[in-house]
Amino acid sequence: MSTATTKDHPHLAADFNRDEPRVNWHDETLWWVRAKRDIAAHKLPEWELLRETASQIKFNVLSNLSSYLEQFEANAIKNGIIVHWAADATEHNQIVHSLLEQKGITKMVKSKSMLTEECHLNEYLKEQGIDVIDSDLGERIVQLANEPPSHIVLPCIHKKKEEIGDIFHEHLGSAKGESDPKILTETARQHLREVFLTRRAALTGVNFAVAETGEFVICTNEGNADMGAHLAEIHIASMGIEKLIPERKHLGVFLRLLTRSATGQPITTYSSHFSKPQDGTEIHIVIVDNGRSIQLGREEFRNSLKCIRCGACMNTCPVYRKSGGHSYHTAVAGPIGSILAPNLDMKKYADLPFASTLCGSCSNVCPVKIDIHDQLYKWRQVIVKEGYSPKAKTMAMKAMALTLASPTLYRMGGKTGRLVFKYAPFAVNNKLNPWYNQREMPKAPDESFGEWYAKRKGAKNS
Ligand code: SF4
Repeated sequence: MSTATTKDHPHLAADFNRDEPRVNWHDETLWWVRAKRDIAAHKLPEWELLRETASQIKFNVLSNLSSYLEQFEANAIKNGIIVHWAADATEHNQIVHSLLEQKGITKMVKSKSMLTEECHLNEYLKEQGIDVIDSDLGERIVQLANEPPSHIVLPCIHKKKEEIGDIFHEHLGSAKGESDPKILTETARQHLREVFLTRRAALTGVNFAVAETGEFVICTNEGNADMGAHLAEIHIASMGIEKLIPERKHLGVFLRLLTRSATGQPITTYSSHFSKPQDGTEIHIVIVDNGRSIQLGREEFRNSLKCIRCGACMNTCPVYRKSGGHSYHTAVAGPIGSILAPNLDMKKYADLPFASTLCGSCSNVCPVKIDIHDQLYKWRQVIVKEGYSPKAKTMAMKAMALTLASPTLYRMGGKTGRLVFKYAPFAVNNKLNPWYNQREMPKAPDESFGEWYAKRKGAKNS
């Protein structure tokens, strides 16, 4: 289920675009979710105040991260939680494996955690002989389809119900051709109930970790995190270092913003607090860095660590809606993923900051006011400066800079372009031109704007 691919965003988006009805339906569904978000947000007169407050709280957290982390660790330990620190994905995976190994556990149930997707935990554990079952319905569907999630909140948004019916028929024994969502959900429920009752270990993500109390909060709509964690003898929670909030009272701000931004619901169906293990059970928290402290040190991109993973920037992004989550070839897709991924591997993800129109819609909906489109623009500059943009593009941009800096060259270029369009359009309109592959070239005018304007001015003055 690795997202590793040799193709870049334009090529993967072109693959997605081959199925036009799917693109339209993907686009419309996500826009519908975005519209629901707008209705929910507009119902709260204090919405902008909430966004500003959340942004400021996260700013405080990021400015004092090490002390909040230490405070959280001390309080969690006081509560009886065992805390582990992982510098990167490998360490995280090894810690999880060793915890399971110590108990002789070979089967684990997992609820949605984008951090474990980022660390490729499932693949790692599979290689160690551990069977992991994802219990979030959308995650389970993509797991059975052997695909990564395509959206952080709606992991199988790219799948049609008929395709899900086929997957369930193959793996869970539902009737052939059955695509009624209610019946398919019931099939998944029966299957997962058995899993919850038999797995000795459960892994969850963490939405918010409270420094003041050492507790952590997990938000789900299906209650699957609770089912797994309450029934298992060992609960492992994986959290990124940025998930902290200073005090419990701050939860009120974030819980009101999170689901309204994500799906338009006033609150998640389950917002579960975990503060200490039940008798005879263990809770372990693995606190993971994996590049986050490097991002913290990049002043221009630090704000991206405020992200609470609501997915609103994906739902609103015209590029994401039309190109699908898999085209981003990274665990967290869309606008925020395009800021986070180059920090992990600038060369591999150099294409992502360019997968944007920079329209700013993402920044407008972000509940923690991350300047997403500005950061995408800044990443483009860093990537070009560091020499990671394609050579052809770099040369074309240099030529363009020269042309735009010289009125003579600009006029000559315009004239030549109009002549080429008129007499040899095939020089531009051919399959070697990726721009033309997806668009119709405009008809070139007979004269430039400058020529038209000069003529018009001359006529007026005469
Ligand atoms: S960047 Fe903002 S809008 Fe996008 S997922 Fe994160 S919190 Fe939500």
